[in-house]
Amino acid sequence: MKPNSPVHPVGPCDHPAQLRQLQQVAQDAPSRLKLFQRVYAWQTSPMECIKAFCLQCNGYQEASIRGCSAPACALYRLRPYQRKAPPTTVSK
Ligand code: SF4
Repeated sequence: MKPNSPVHPVGPCDHPAQLRQLQQVAQDAPSRLKLFQRVYAWQTSPMECIKAFCLQCNGYQEASIRGCSAPACALYRLRPYQRKAPPTTVSK
C-alpha cells in the first residue's frame, strides 16, 4: 500500500501505540476490547470511533460519559450513552 493512501487495510492493527492501547483496554475494560480492535482495523462507523474516544477519555465508564461535564468538547453533543429526551406532548 502506498503511504497516505486513502484506503486502509482491514485487519489487525500493528501500530505500537494502538497495540499499547489494546493492552491497556484488555487490562482495564476487557469488555471493550472488541470495539477497540474494530476501531483500529477500520471496521467501525464514525459514531463507534467517537464512542471509543469517549470511553478512553472517561476511564471506560458509561455513567461518566453520560454525565460528561465538558460541554466545550467538540464531541459533547455526539457522545454516547446520553439519555434521550422524553417525547413532548402537545396540549390542546
Ligand atoms: S464528550 Fe466528554 S467524554 Fe467525550 S471526549 Fe469529550 S470530554 Fe470526553
